Amino acid sequence: MTTESAAAAARATVYGYPRQGPNRELKKAIEGYWKGRVTAGALRATAAELRRANWLQLAGAGIDEVPTGDFSYYDHVLDTTVMVGAIPDRHRDAVAADPLDGYFAMARGTQDVAPLEMTKWFDTNYHYLVPELGPDTVFTADSARQVAELREALALGLTARPVLVGPVTYLLLAKPAPGAPADFEPLTLLDRLLPVYAEVLADLRAAGAEWVQLDEPALVQDRTPAELSATGRAYRDLGALADRPKLLVASYFDRLGEALPVLAKAPVEGLALDFTEAAAAHLEELAAVGGLPRKRLIAGVVNGRNIWVNDLEKSLATLGTLLGLADRVDVAASCSLLHVPLDTAAERDIEPPILRWLAFARQKTAEIVTLARGLTRGTGAITAELAANRAALASRATSPITRDPAVRARAGAVTDADAHRSQPYAERVAAQRAHLRLPLLPTTTIGSFPQTGELRTARAELREGRIDRAGYEERVRAEIREVISFQERTGLDVLVHGEAERNDMVQYFAEQLTGYLATRHGWVQSYGTRYVRPPILAGDITRPEPMTVRWTAYAQSLTERPVKGMLTGPVTMLAWSFVRDDQPLGDTARQVALALREEVNDLEAAGTSVIQVDEPALRETLPLRAGDRPAYLAWATEAFRLTTGGVRPGTQIHTHMCYAEFGDIVRAIDDLDADVISLEAARSHMQVARELATHGYPREAGPGVYDIHSPRVPSAREAAELLRTGLRAIPAERLWVNPDCGLKTRGWPETRSALRNLVAAARTVRGELPAS
Ligand code: GLN
Ligand code: ZN
Repeated sequence: MTTESAAAAARATVYGYPRQGPNRELKKAIEGYWKGRVTAGALRATAAELRRANWLQLAGAGIDEVPTGDFSYYDHVLDTTVMVGAIPDRHRDAVAADPLDGYFAMARGTQDVAPLEMTKWFDTNYHYLVPELGPDTVFTADSARQVAELREALALGLTARPVLVGPVTYLLLAKPAPGAPADFEPLTLLDRLLPVYAEVLADLRAAGAEWVQLDEPALVQDRTPAELSATGRAYRDLGALADRPKLLVASYFDRLGEALPVLAKAPVEGLALDFTEAAAAHLEELAAVGGLPRKRLIAGVVNGRNIWVNDLEKSLATLGTLLGLADRVDVAASCSLLHVPLDTAAERDIEPPILRWLAFARQKTAEIVTLARGLTRGTGAITAELAANRAALASRATSPITRDPAVRARAGAVTDADAHRSQPYAERVAAQRAHLRLPLLPTTTIGSFPQTGELRTARAELREGRIDRAGYEERVRAEIREVISFQERTGLDVLVHGEAERNDMVQYFAEQLTGYLATRHGWVQSYGTRYVRPPILAGDITRPEPMTVRWTAYAQSLTERPVKGMLTGPVTMLAWSFVRDDQPLGDTARQVALALREEVNDLEAAGTSVIQVDEPALRETLPLRAGDRPAYLAWATEAFRLTTGGVRPGTQIHTHMCYAEFGDIVRAIDDLDADVISLEAARSHMQVARELATHGYPREAGPGVYDIHSPRVPSAREAAELLRTGLRAIPAERLWVNPDCGLKTRGWPETRSALRNLVAAARTVRGELPAS
């Protein structure tokens, strides 16, 4: 394909860049500041230097317009809360006393004040701080940070475009403030918020911004007519301002759907759309509204949230189609590059041919620049890049890593029977009761016990070669002995080995499965100063040998009580990794499920009669649009059943999920066909128990009675009270007693007391049950 030169030169741009720096300098500076080891001045200097380096790197790579305001000390939604003056009452004094400390107090809380709630940013693994708004909220504009960062970039001689969270998305992401009516809708504050945005826009214009970007990713979700009309009003009002920069409304993570006609009609000068997710549907929608004849269109054709090289020819074809649909077409990544690691060059452990399949933020920037050049000057101007790209794509498509015939044959031969246990739940429950002989209200934990400093040291020493594998494993066994002995002394009914050998619940398995790649420096911000290194699902999956059996078997050899085997489920293995883009997600899930199924069967063969397959990510991976959910839930639940479907009726399968709001997936949870589910419930006072009951959930359940996210130890009385509440929704024959989640982030002293109290509570409440 040859693209003839477009009318205007296409510009290359991005909406945001990884904040941390090549060696996570930002994390170190912020955590140093918290510990009092780094002064506020030094922290600010580090931050300014990181911003400067990012801008210069972007500009040096050929990015025509750099973003500003995407940097953050913690979170860009929290920054927006500061920008609009929506500081919660409980934080006002701290913010007034010292803005930076007040900012961190909102993010992390202090001894006396709770932080803002944190939740996931759409369907990414980034977490933002939820704004708290009420009928009494008064907004005031504070454009200082945005203006200062714009000036920094302009001072470098760059063309810069400030990026803000848009007003509609900001309100839609908010929740009612404490004290506000529970049904309060923050969107009703729109008319109060718009003048504040108007002020910020005027300030940015005065500081030299030609364009300002307003991010509205909330518009790619299903929106009510009222929300769409509020959106139309918002952009009519902002568009009508006399003193303002040109406005670019950006959407990402999916297609705009019903919001597209609203924004196409709005008096704004540009739209940014995502052409990586649902690209074909998005193109059709764009054609259906008659294109954007008088607008600038920024086409997100380079996926900003996965790590695969772009198919440049395919992107050029999309861009070519778009040329006919807008006044001017520019090229970008689909979303901020915040969601990918910085640079593949740091990955010395990945072989060069495979490394060429990958594109992190720096490589994506180069792709965007190449595409803009190709769009402007024709493919003849990028022949070398196209040839290299074609070679990388071909090498990936034909590699034995991505296509293992044995794995494909096995996945293809899966039958419906494989994904079903041999007996329905109602029948196998008797076999399990006879076999396990547990008391009513059996007590257990979710899997991990405290990850002590000694364990982390041992792992570091193993990595650095200061101890050998045998020495390391002996330390893990010592920890297992301690954990088993503690649980026996405390009187728990179903024990766990404690997961001492695991660095992370996904990485531990990824390291042992072929087809997964690990990175050394592939850090991605999860929240605040927490960064994770998601493994890369690159190829067909096999399990060369058992991954957990010897640890579980060792633990079982130390006790008469049942020890629960612990695995991470297939959906979570995908959700917390970078996934393949060359086959449907369901196919990848099925391969992972088949590998995990071997592990489940091996655990059973080794004498494990209770096996837990954790799926904390089942709910969070739910597609953004309701119409896409049934297909997702179908493959997700099938993958779980395939993992667990091969065991005998008497083997009890548990699953575990955290995070509230299970209401909309109770049906799917039932479709997992697990025997027992443990859920997070302590903070919501057993709300999930009621939700399960309302939906007629027929299986056993353990709504958590110990909030493990807090260092607080619940008393036995408190836990008993929660159990009594649980019993009103779930009968005693089906109620389990457990914490909300794993204990790996807790210390031993509080874990000891909390579990003692939990067992005491179960005993007390058992004593209150009518004798049968
Ligand atoms: N079994 C895991 C643990 O206890 C579950 C963790 C999770 O739900 N996130 O650590
Ligand atoms: Zn959990």
